[in-house]
Amino acid sequence: MVQHSGIGGEEMILVGIGVSPGIAHGPIHLSLDVFERPEVEEIPADEVESEVIRLKSALETTRRQLETMRDRIAQEIGGTDADIFDAHLLMLEDRSVLDKVFKQLNTRPQRAEGAFYGVMSKYVETLKRIGDEYLRERTVDIEDVARRVVRNLRGIDPEHSPAQPHILLSPEITPSDTAMMDRKTVLGFATEGGSHTSHSAIMARSMGIPAVVGLPDITTRFHTGQDALLDGYGGLLIVNPTEETLSIYSATKRRKAALASHLRSMVKLPAETLDGMRIVLSANIEFESEMAAVGEWGAEGVGLYRTEFFFLNRTALPTEDEQAENYARVAAAAGPDGVIIRTLDIGGDKLHALHDGLAEANPFLGWRGIRVSLSRRKIFKTQLRAILRASAVGKVRIMFPMVSCREELQDAREILAGCKDDLRAAGVVFDENIEVGAMIEVPSAAITADTLAQEVDFFSIGTNDLIQYTIAVDRGNELVASLYQPCHPAILRLLKHVTDSARNAGIWTGVCGEMAGDIMLTPLMVGLGFTELSMAVSQLPLVKYAIRKLPAGHCADLVAESLKLGDASKIYVRCREVAMQYYSELLVH
Ligand code: PEP
Ligand code: MG
Repeated sequence: MVQHSGIGGEEMILVGIGVSPGIAHGPIHLSLDVFERPEVEEIPADEVESEVIRLKSALETTRRQLETMRDRIAQEIGGTDADIFDAHLLMLEDRSVLDKVFKQLNTRPQRAEGAFYGVMSKYVETLKRIGDEYLRERTVDIEDVARRVVRNLRGIDPEHSPAQPHILLSPEITPSDTAMMDRKTVLGFATEGGSHTSHSAIMARSMGIPAVVGLPDITTRFHTGQDALLDGYGGLLIVNPTEETLSIYSATKRRKAALASHLRSMVKLPAETLDGMRIVLSANIEFESEMAAVGEWGAEGVGLYRTEFFFLNRTALPTEDEQAENYARVAAAAGPDGVIIRTLDIGGDKLHALHDGLAEANPFLGWRGIRVSLSRRKIFKTQLRAILRASAVGKVRIMFPMVSCREELQDAREILAGCKDDLRAAGVVFDENIEVGAMIEVPSAAITADTLAQEVDFFSIGTNDLIQYTIAVDRGNELVASLYQPCHPAILRLLKHVTDSARNAGIWTGVCGEMAGDIMLTPLMVGLGFTELSMAVSQLPLVKYAIRKLPAGHCADLVAESLKLGDASKIYVRCREVAMQYYSELLVH
């Protein structure tokens, strides 16, 4: 940590991991978000009346907050995601619950927090015991509303985001937190935990929010209101930046803006190497609302639609119609290159209400991806039918996540065939020749790629998980972040084996993990000869620029040479040298 004299005290520079590029400057907002369950705190009887007033005012504040959130989500993501807030609002008005709370306050005088939370908790426990899946799922909503009210009673703003633009500091940020962020007020965020490929980081890149992770103790060392600068390129959090620092960063911002306008002028040009090798560059999306940017930045369709975000932040599962409409709109917006719709990949760090009460010791090795779909066939079939229906509207491909063996693919294909039969019988139109792909993100799948290639039309390599599972390094754990090495010789060999196996079987291979969008690694991606690279929209112009500067022949030599090297660091250094040789202007900040 470096210290100089800053505007509001000593300048402090903390070095973490830059996971989403960009520079943000503004006041810190601390979000500790630790919820302490209120205990019963008895009070004299003459204080009950003021507790009732306090509770009514907290309920009213909560109602206003929920309405604001509902309107914002409806605008940014879509009506159906916003409906959940209507359900939350109804809970606030449930007379039977409120009457119980008021009765409790009168019979045993106590602070409103304990009385309100006590009644809500009992309600939740009863619903959980009923054993009905739908009701059990609703308990998450009830708990959420109860916590919100208690926070308001305690005078804590339950939102991460105050109304003013700020830099958010938090111990951890979940993918659902990121999805809820208001892009207008969250200028950037920094967390104590996290890593480059945690889903929050991936989403920050999609949403264009600068982010730095892996900064221990920031929430205890700093406080709301302190001036800070966040450098998502270099992975720095600078608290109390000096005038000199601010002026250096405003020059960097100007340079980046000039580069961005140059990149924008290349939007219509193909991603083709100097010696004529053409690569398809497509986009990874989490939300339909990203489709505008997909078109604007010249993506050749969507290479990965992470549909699970359609399922998160809501407890009722989206219906077949809702899904079909959403997928059809995405397919229509994607144009002739189409969209690869990945079936539900919940589990790991993307927990859905279906995981409630399921205590998994190792969630990333547990009930995740295709495993969830194959064991909840009703949910799976609903999604497959919705995808098939969308295939009548535009070019759609299906892809299965977290495949670890051939049988899973065979099962999934059989269920898909059944869905096709149902639709045919009902006279519903769909693409009879819809292509089906497998994500290669588990080492067993990569090693048996030759066998899996018999079952599908294409592969898309999910390097984020492939790295985590191959090196046995949790992709979201900052303690082992230094071991998370995309250039590990084992990864390089697996990538080579997968593309070779696919080529022998006559199918194509793409990459949709974060390696695809890392310009430092583009020489390796080109040298391995992938057909398609799919990435966050923000990375597309940079990767296209890099590809257009590279000779594919030199990249193939780099891969051949790297395959003989035994250390990740050596492979990385060689790759970086090639990148610096051809497009250093992109790599220096
Ligand atoms: C991957 O694992 O590389 C991938 C693209 O899937 P996700 O990041 O959603 O797990
Ligand atoms: Mg994955």
